[in-house]
Amino acid sequence: MQQILDAILAGATGDDLAAVPLPESYRAALVRREDADMFEGVASEDKDPRKSLRVEEVAVPELAPDEAYIAVMASAINFNTVWTSIFEPLSTFGFLDRLGKEGRWGARHALPYHVVGSDAAAVVLRVGSAVRSWKPGDKVTIHCNYVDDQDPSAHDDSMLAANQRIWGFETNFGGLADLAVVKANQLMPKPAHLSWEEAAVNALCNSTSYRMVVSANGAGMKQGDKVLVWGATGGLGAYAVQYVLNGGGIPVGVVSSPEKAELLHQMGVEAVIDRKAAGYRFWKDAHTQDESEWRRLGKDIRALVGDDVDIVFEHPGRQTMGASVFVAKRAGTIVTCAATSGYMIEYDNRHLWMKLKTIKGSHFANYREAWDANQLVCDGKIVPPLSAVFDLEHAGEAAYQVHHNLHEGKIGVLCLAPSEGMGIDDPEARARIGEDRITLFRRAEA
Ligand code: NAP
Repeated sequence: MQQILDAILAGATGDDLAAVPLPESYRAALVRREDADMFEGVASEDKDPRKSLRVEEVAVPELAPDEAYIAVMASAINFNTVWTSIFEPLSTFGFLDRLGKEGRWGARHALPYHVVGSDAAAVVLRVGSAVRSWKPGDKVTIHCNYVDDQDPSAHDDSMLAANQRIWGFETNFGGLADLAVVKANQLMPKPAHLSWEEAAVNALCNSTSYRMVVSANGAGMKQGDKVLVWGATGGLGAYAVQYVLNGGGIPVGVVSSPEKAELLHQMGVEAVIDRKAAGYRFWKDAHTQDESEWRRLGKDIRALVGDDVDIVFEHPGRQTMGASVFVAKRAGTIVTCAATSGYMIEYDNRHLWMKLKTIKGSHFANYREAWDANQLVCDGKIVPPLSAVFDLEHAGEAAYQVHHNLHEGKIGVLCLAPSEGMGIDDPEARARIGEDRITLFRRAEA
């Protein structure tokens, strides 16, 4: 990989890069099948990704005709890497084994190890014989929607494809590595004004939030809509509030510290709730919710923005869903993509049907949505909420930080990139978009 890195850093042309031999193995962050039971009997919060996420050399797999090898300059931690590394709610080797049954190319994925990671900023090294739009040397970001486009169910909204998967979570050969294998229809242009690590953190959370807030497949927010965003400085939330502001909506951001509240104000969010300071107790005990606490949240929202919210951007799940359904306006939408605090959800259905509200499920984004969300990053309309950077050897520590909510925004991981700040090809655009905007989260963390 050193020869490849040297060529990239020396600005090699695509042809030069294509002439550099591929290695037989590469460095990757992975979990091992034999470790899948290592946390049995351990409480969820004590399951430690630093114990299960290892960095090892693995063999370069064969390339399918519709795929590309990419040299990964930087990647990012997503919550799905936390799930894989603590083997919750189930071991991801089940996903790999299922994919392994899908013919010759699927069989490559069912291995004793799972190379994780669902984001990357990279350089294309080789493309398969069926790839038309990309070539060696292209600088790219990767979205994680992995679909077989020869399946008719993928042709409308590819997130509805019967065999839709998330790359690096439900497939092998993910982005937390020096090299990765992706389908050509996961490739998108790298924003030229961003460094490798700034470019690497966006695709998964940015595209997910775009679909949830902007797309007609999600809440389809319109100008003037009031939107409650849980975890508003977290991975998803930090993009969601940018979409609400860009689209003429009014965000109500919920966070859990004065520092995060200040960060939101600096992003231009006026209505901010510190849920810790407010001390909401939506659950009286493990089985009983407290409607008076839902009502208190509703009052706090009205005090800030004068009305109930049209949209709730939901992902904490069990802890908040009852409140989310309650505080949404008549005919409002609760759009949800996750359940970090528990997926067995309880809410009072009377508030849903009597007030004609909708709960809308959402999951990642199709290629078109991911592409449009990436274009907004390229145009500087969306900026990366990168707050911290680790090297690949410390991927376990980075995942630990996300698991314990010790981070803000996104954590980047340097793979081949030797240091932060490299890969900026358009400094003029960067200056125009604003160094301060681009580095807001990084400076707050420092
Ligand atoms: P993140 O960076 O950890 O941010 C989540 C935020 O939620 C935290 O910053 C925290 O903010 C808030 N939060 C956590 N627990 C909470 C609770 N009990 N009550 C209220 N707020 C709580 O994670 P993320 O990347 O945004 O992902 C969030 C969830 O979405 C994860 O479960 C992830 O797996 C899922 N996800 C799903 C998709 C999809 O396509 N389906 C895509 C991306 C992520 P405060 O402490 O500041 O309030």
